[in-house]
Amino acid sequence: MPNNKDRVCIIGGGPAGLSCAMYLEKKGYTEYKIYEKLNKVGGKCFSPKIKVKHNGVEEEKSFETGAIMGAITYHAVSEMEEFGGYYHKGPDFKPGEPNMRREFRKLDGTIDHPFEPKVNFSFKKLTGLLKLKKQMKKLNKLMQTKYVGYDCYGHIGVAQGKYFGISKGVDGYCGATKESSFPNYLQGENPNLKDLALPFAEFCKLNGVEEVQRIWIAPFTSFGYGFFDEIPAALVMKYLDVTTALEFVNMKLWTWQDGTQQIYEHVNAKLKHPAILETEVVKVERPDGKVLVTTKGKDGKLHTEEFDKLIVTTPLDYFKDYADATEEEKTLFSKIIHERYCDYIATFEEGKSPNISGYLVENMVPERLGHAMVYYNRWQYLDRDCPATVYALANHTGSPDVDYDVVMKTMDEDMKKVGFPIKEKLYAQEVYYCPHVSSKDYQDGWYDKLEALQGNKNTYYAGEIISFGDMEDTCAASKDIIGRFF
Ligand SMILES: Cc1cc2nc3c(=O)[nH]c(=O)nc-3n(C[C@H](O)[C@H](O)[C@H](O)COP(=O)(O)OP(=O)(O)OC[C@H]3O[C@@H](n4cnc5c(N)ncnc54)[C@H](O)[C@@H]3O)c2cc1C
Repeated sequence: MPNNKDRVCIIGGGPAGLSCAMYLEKKGYTEYKIYEKLNKVGGKCFSPKIKVKHNGVEEEKSFETGAIMGAITYHAVSEMEEFGGYYHKGPDFKPGEPNMRREFRKLDGTIDHPFEPKVNFSFKKLTGLLKLKKQMKKLNKLMQTKYVGYDCYGHIGVAQGKYFGISKGVDGYCGATKESSFPNYLQGENPNLKDLALPFAEFCKLNGVEEVQRIWIAPFTSFGYGFFDEIPAALVMKYLDVTTALEFVNMKLWTWQDGTQQIYEHVNAKLKHPAILETEVVKVERPDGKVLVTTKGKDGKLHTEEFDKLIVTTPLDYFKDYADATEEEKTLFSKIIHERYCDYIATFEEGKSPNISGYLVENMVPERLGHAMVYYNRWQYLDRDCPATVYALANHTGSPDVDYDVVMKTMDEDMKKVGFPIKEKLYAQEVYYCPHVSSKDYQDGWYDKLEALQGNKNTYYAGEIISFGDMEDTCAASKDIIGRFF
């Protein structure tokens, strides 16, 4: 039975952990602690300030190493914004705001216009675009008819042809009212939903809409979420539901002036119990209905504390390394796959930085693993003085992984080839990204097995794995879990 006097331990101070704390507060919980191993909150939303020089004048601007953008469908993130009092810019950007304008570039450095029929006109291009438009329309209709129920958060029941979850519709507050943050759920049966377990490429073929992958690939694969021959369609369509995909196409996106990290810094500052930083959870024991959590603090000392409930927002495939994971947990979590996404922020040779973001679509195929797929120019008014972030994927099911050092070198070479020679890397990383399961495990009901484990040993699982590896799905998963179990 939920009891808001319970002591709750939250592992991780990223979007998932902080949103869990916010929703716990909305339910009247006061006794919770968030442990965060780093010296900052926000997890993969890390937005460092970097000194830039433009026309001889030096100033500090925020850059992104992780999450950059949102869209009108970011309802749970909106709640975080309201709670913290820090809001996005866009979808219509004013000068001086980081916008999401971009170009397409071929690997020989020439600018491409794949979606503009009049530029480099040919009948082949025109018929290709007409076909694409027709298939976009068809997919939109199919999602609203054949696949009714696809557009709720999470994957509960999908493998059995059912749906259950908070609506993703553009109705604000995830279908809730201002007074009650915890809405009624969408629920129903639709055997067609089982198709969503197929890899996205097969799903498109089944429905005669292969061309739409040309639209979906840029916001999906280039942003590290994997390749369409391996990723279950459910993940693609739940993230890039038709509304969100069209917002991408029309560049009607959200950005945050001081970076996405600030959403979470602001939420953290408003919480009754802000995250305890530089404190890593190193052991979890759950004997006889108790939850014992051992942390290692700044001073290196170990400290064990008892809680009533545990919320894990950190990678579940690593849970067994520090917790008394049950055989069921071990078996289930061993099936998790994650992407290895690499990025760096770099300066460029004088006058040679990109002055707009760009997609290198030819590199968004498994054969080009480790190659630069997208570069992000955040401050367009800085023109050719602006550092940019460059991104590549290092893994694909069925291909050998690419070593981090090789990825970094390959990205440098690519940027040089397309006309933007790197001068200095200011920040570089490889991240654990977009945890998910294979199509087969999806079909075998992996997500329903995870759902069945929720609450066992007073343990609840939240974070990216529940729905999808973006800020919105992650925060909405917290809302769902706190809404139903606390
Ligand atoms: C390059 C990149 C681009 C992205 N672009 C976008 C975008 O444009 N839009 C979007 O919506 N999303 C984007 N994302 C995804 C988004 O950042 C993530 O989905 C989101 O941060 C996930 O939140 P989380 O809390 O589940 O996990 P994380 O952000 O990974 O947070 C987990 C936290 O747990 C902490 N932790 C781990 N282990 C322990 C432990 N044992 N004890 C204590 N603390 C621990 C970690 O330090 C971390 O702070 C992007 C991510 C990256 C990397």
